[in-house]
Amino acid sequence: MMQLFDLKGRVAIVTGGNGGIGLGMAQGLAAAGATVVIAGRNPTKNAEATAALRSINPKVEPLALEVDVTQESACEGLIRTTMERFGRLDILVNNAGTNIRKPPQDYSLDEWRFVLDTNLTSAFLCSKAAYAPMVKTGGGKMINIGSMTSIFGASFAAPYGATKGGIVQFTKALASAWAKDNIQVNAVLPGWIDTDLTRRARKDIAGLHDRVVARTPAARWGRPDDFAGIAVFLASPASDFLTGTAIPVDGGYSSQA
Ligand code: NDP
Repeated sequence: MMQLFDLKGRVAIVTGGNGGIGLGMAQGLAAAGATVVIAGRNPTKNAEATAALRSINPKVEPLALEVDVTQESACEGLIRTTMERFGRLDILVNNAGTNIRKPPQDYSLDEWRFVLDTNLTSAFLCSKAAYAPMVKTGGGKMINIGSMTSIFGASFAAPYGATKGGIVQFTKALASAWAKDNIQVNAVLPGWIDTDLTRRARKDIAGLHDRVVARTPAARWGRPDDFAGIAVFLASPASDFLTGTAIPVDGGYSSQA
């Protein structure tokens, strides 16, 4: 039974795995036995994250690479270095993300493009580069990170919502195209989670903290470690007949009227 969730010998890449939800997922994957490659820009956060992974599972040595996922050559380099170092790639988590909050009419084109490049184009670039290596070893798992804004409109986050809606359709497209290659592709839609990304918003927006708690049936903010289980499930043989889905991990937020 436990073999269903066994990731020993598997190699996983988590973009934005040096903090927040990505690190929560990376920790789950490492605990299940996977070798984890973290891709983030900040070397200090990268070093702290690899130390955290080592303490969770000293048997597998993690790797952190300085990568800007908005750059095609950096995404290709991430996959290439992973293949050179470990010889296989089984799991790709497209998690790196950012947000700029303002009314739709106030975004510059550069701001719009920055959010799209970071949240959506990055997933295309990494998935494209990961495809051939996964095919070579007989299949793989891709996990894309959406949001409640994949479902609901956010007046303060038009480009962010466009990327997160796009992530769901991109997930379905890849799932449809690559099922024949035994690659399963699913999306995870986090509710409100306590991370660097939302910490500023909580400070800036009066009442946000309490509004989220009141609107969430679980009556709390999510934590990065709430994402360990879904990552292991979607990365393991337990989910081999699951593809093209978008699974809310939101304490019930999207289920309540
Ligand atoms: P964090 O800010 O903690 O994490 C974002 C991660 O993305 C960091 O590790 C950051 O690392 C990395 N990153 C950002 N830009 C780049 C880039 N250009 N290249 C490489 N890495 C990059 O926020 P969260 O953990 O909250 O966010 C993770 C994902 O979850 C995002 O996709 C976000 O949209 C999504 N999400 C979060 C929710 C929440 O409530 N927190 C709700 C719904 C979705 P570095 O700065 O070192 O590059």
